[in-house]
Amino acid sequence: MTRVLHDKVAIVTGAAAGIGQATARRFAKEGATVVLCDRAEDALRQEAEYAGYESGKVLTYVLDVTKRQQVEDTMQDVRKRFGRIDVLVNNAGITHDAKLTRMTERQFDQVIDVNLKGVFNCTQAVVDGMLERASGVILNASSVVGLYGNFGQTNYSASKFGVIGMTKTWARELGPKGIRVNAVCPGFVATDILKTVPDSVLDGIRAACWLRRLGNPDEIASVYTFLANDDASFVNGVALEVSGGLSL
Ligand code: NAD
Repeated sequence: MTRVLHDKVAIVTGAAAGIGQATARRFAKEGATVVLCDRAEDALRQEAEYAGYESGKVLTYVLDVTKRQQVEDTMQDVRKRFGRIDVLVNNAGITHDAKLTRMTERQFDQVIDVNLKGVFNCTQAVVDGMLERASGVILNASSVVGLYGNFGQTNYSASKFGVIGMTKTWARELGPKGIRVNAVCPGFVATDILKTVPDSVLDGIRAACWLRRLGNPDEIASVYTFLANDDASFVNGVALEVSGGLSL
């Protein structure tokens, strides 16, 4: 059976856990050479041991997406080793929830810095190489919160709306040059990012979802896999909701 990402070089940020981990593993299964980037060094080292990664086809970088020089150096090193970058998944993201009346400037800035500026930093560091080859795919992690807002998430929703804005802008700027750019908007998916959400709130989320459950990371990874490969060759500039019908 053909593996849909055969011979592709794909970078996944925030690859040591959750959706990023599931995406990197799925990409590897589909034949990609995967570059795992995360600021969590121990988790990253552990992830590299995963048996599903073929030797010589996985590389790890301790990388904080907010550090522009580090991002630039990392992407340059990947290009040096593999000659090119075919797919970038801007997945790294954080929350620091608080109601507007209680949110600190630091909470606001930290979330914007990782979730919004981190996406800008990583994309800028790969785009020249993609432009030279007139080929590439950029996938950005937004959220249903980037479509509808959410109580207690001023900073996070601003970042995720912003990601959609950048996605649509880049789809226009880069589409004519052979590069597709899309965003994925997961609903609520069972990962560590939800660990601060009280059980009573999670129960409400399950009840509001028309599949009556949370998503699992593999269900988002499969959507990234579709968007990353040529099956999605005419998909550009979308913000694809993957939420079990949460917003219906
Ligand atoms: P997670 O917390 O399980 O994993 C996030 C990973 O990103 C971690 O390994 C973490 O170390 C890494 N990371 C955080 N800041 C970083 C930085 N500055 N530089 C590099 N790596 C960094 O989260 P997740 O649920 O897998 O979320 C992945 C993405 O999907 C995020 O952008 C998140 O906003 C988005 N998302 C998640 C959900 C959900 O319900 N889980 C819903 C919608 C959108």
